[in-house]
Amino acid sequence: MITRTEYEAAQAQAAALFLRTGIAVRQAELDQIAVADFGLGELEQTGAQILTLLDTAEIAVKLIALFPGQTLPEHRHPPLGDYPGKAETLRCEWGEVRLYVDPGPSGGLEDGASGRPPVHRRDTYTVWKEVILLPGEQMTLQPDTLHWFQPGPEGCVVWSFSSRAVDVQDVFTDREITRETVVIDG
Ligand code: ZN
Repeated sequence: MITRTEYEAAQAQAAALFLRTGIAVRQAELDQIAVADFGLGELEQTGAQILTLLDTAEIAVKLIALFPGQTLPEHRHPPLGDYPGKAETLRCEWGEVRLYVDPGPSGGLEDGASGRPPVHRRDTYTVWKEVILLPGEQMTLQPDTLHWFQPGPEGCVVWSFSSRAVDVQDVFTDREITRETVVIDG
């Protein structure tokens, strides 16, 4: 859980990042930025700020802001009944995205790679093949593919273009994670 004060501070910081990209977003949209702490209460280390621009039964378009030092934790988008699961294209808009997508040959971070998951949660990260996305670069992830990402030193803004999003069904490697953010007074 996080406090209302923390939640609103993260919203404001994310709004500033989104505006910095030059993308046209309205204040009413910025007011709806969702702050996800993934139930861990460690927003500075594990978290994401998400602005949903389109969310239908077929497709979803979101902007995600990550602050320096924040990690969007390892997860996959599983099949649900007849639906094969969310296919997702991540496209860097601003900053640098460090995306991890595959176990890689060694089962650990490759030489020269820069990924640094939260140290005390290191054992909940299992894919290590690094893909760096700079502005204008993108990568498509097939359904049910494990992935996690974090920003470069300045933070990042990432587009997520996808088939139907059912965020509450996302499967996280870290079993302590819950997708809902609980906000308490304070
Ligand atoms: Zn994802």
